[in-house]
Amino acid sequence: MSYQNRQLIWKMKKDGHLKSKEIEQALLELPREKFVPANVKRFAYENTPLDIGKRQTISQPATVVIMTEALDVKKTDKILEIGTGSGWQGAILAKLTKKNVYSVEHIPELVKFAKSNLEQFPEIKNLKIIKGDGSKGLKKYAPFDKIMVTAASPEVPKPLLDQLKVGGKMVIPYGDSYSQEMISITKKNKTKFDRASIGFFNFVPLLGKYGFKEKKEE
Ligand code: SAM
Repeated sequence: MSYQNRQLIWKMKKDGHLKSKEIEQALLELPREKFVPANVKRFAYENTPLDIGKRQTISQPATVVIMTEALDVKKTDKILEIGTGSGWQGAILAKLTKKNVYSVEHIPELVKFAKSNLEQFPEIKNLKIIKGDGSKGLKKYAPFDKIMVTAASPEVPKPLLDQLKVGGKMVIPYGDSYSQEMISITKKNKTKFDRASIGFFNFVPLLGKYGFKEKKEE
C-alpha cells in the first residue's frame, strides 16, 4: 500500500495542503492503514474520513495535514491533542516534536484502539494517551506550547485558553453541529488572543463539560 500512500501525499502537495518536509516524512512513516479497522483498510488512502467505531471517525487526510501545518510544530513544543480517536494525528504530532504529546479521548474503547495501533510503532515514546474529558484540558501537564482539538466545539473552551502558554498556538474547529470554522488562536498575553480563520470543515462534536451536551440514546 506504500504506493497508494505516496500517491495521496503527492496529491496533497499538488493541492497546496502539504508543504512541510517533516510532516511529509511523518506521513510516510505512519501509513494511515495502520490506524483504521480491518473493514475500512482498503479505503485508507482515500481522502475521506473513515469510520473507526463508536460513531467516530479518523479525519480526512487533507484535514489532518491542514491542521498540522497550521499548528506549526517546533521540536521543543509540548502539545495537547483533544480527541485521540485512532491515534493517527497524535502519532504525527509526536514525530514532529521531541517533547511529550498528551492526547485525551473520552471513549474507553477508542483509548484501547489507539493504544493498540500505537504498539505497531514502538519508536514513538512521547505520545501519552489519556482517558478523560478533553473539553476541560489537562491541567496536570499544563501549560502547553500547542493545542489541537480534533472535534468541533460550540465555543472555544475556556480551560484550553487558560492552559495555552503565552506565545502558544491552538487550532480548533468551532460552530454548530452542521458546519464549523477552523481557527488558529495565538495567545498574546494572559487575556489577549489573536484569531485567524483556516476555513470551513465538518467534524464530529466535542462533548463534555465545555463541549456539546451529550444526547441520551433512546
Ligand atoms: N484525531 C483523531 C484521529 O487521528 O483519529 C480523530 C478524532 S475524531 C474526528 C474526534 C474524537 O474526539 C473522537 O474520537 C471523539 O470520541 C473525541 N471526543 C469528543 N469529545 C471529547 C471529549 N470531551 N474529550 C475527549 N475526546 C472527545
